[in-house]
Amino acid sequence: MNIVQVEVSTKCQLDCIMCPKSCFDDWIPKNMDMDVFEKIPFKKFKYAHLQGWGEPLLHPKIDEMIEIAKKRCKVGLTTNGLLIDRHVDSLTKLDLIAVSVASADPDVHAAVRKCDLEVIKRNIRLISENRGKTRIVVTTIMMRDTIEGLPKMIDFASECGADEVIANNLDYIPSESLTDLKVFGSKPDRRIGEILEKTRKIAEDVGINFVARPIVMEEALVCAENPIENCLITVDGKISPCVYLHLPTESDRIVRYFEGERVEVPKVYFNSLKDWEKSEIRKIFRRRLSFLPFTEIPPLPNVCRTCYKAYSL
Ligand code: SF4
Ligand code: SF4
Repeated sequence: MNIVQVEVSTKCQLDCIMCPKSCFDDWIPKNMDMDVFEKIPFKKFKYAHLQGWGEPLLHPKIDEMIEIAKKRCKVGLTTNGLLIDRHVDSLTKLDLIAVSVASADPDVHAAVRKCDLEVIKRNIRLISENRGKTRIVVTTIMMRDTIEGLPKMIDFASECGADEVIANNLDYIPSESLTDLKVFGSKPDRRIGEILEKTRKIAEDVGINFVARPIVMEEALVCAENPIENCLITVDGKISPCVYLHLPTESDRIVRYFEGERVEVPKVYFNSLKDWEKSEIRKIFRRRLSFLPFTEIPPLPNVCRTCYKAYSL
């Protein structure tokens, strides 16, 4: 298999407006037990991303976790950036570190992510100055309130010594109040395309790699999470196809807002990688990938039909 995402902690010190943690009262903040982590067969995977729903640097044994996983495969993680300075030795051994930033404008960033952008900037620089081969990525979510500032994110990344900016979509909408924040759609606003183009040009000039997820909804044969090759190991050690079919909440269902409608889908878990490998979801995606011309493409798995990731976003 290719990538395993490992949810080392579901705790987080922030309350970002678009995060399901801020929307659901039954969130279970928890750190992964070390005996669960040590049983993960990292050698089966090319790359392990030590993050699910939550902030991985809040796990008290994150340095040890990085060391264990690094002996077996490539390793990276996504962080909100606030605690980087406490883990510089470990983080500079990673293959990839992604830091989430809402905007290069400190006020906009604070409105969305409720924290001080200056601290994050200082911390990204710290990694940049001390790293070996670690790739530094600044990730952001394209939202109505932040998209105008996207071109400035390139300068921000460059000033911090980052290599790449990735602009993701608000592809999981956990609350009705967030539905108008998305910028994608079947016919997205032309202005969004212009902003992306401008950002691409600046990135080219500055020498920063810029990747933006598509903003036009189109059903994909297999979603970008690619459950044929990748999976998530949750904080409790269960296997799930992706973060979109798991939430660390008490409920056994996931609430999504899809095309303006409130939808509920069951969470999807497997007890072992073997069970996951034999799962119907993987079989369906495989069949979709190998459909023959002039034959009908098998429909998406039920739980995926209302997931924006199934529409190339
Ligand atoms: S930093 Fe990440 S996990 Fe924490 S509240 Fe924000 S989006 Fe959620
Ligand atoms: S379409 Fe969505 S829910 Fe289905 S596997 Fe992909 S990311 Fe997960």
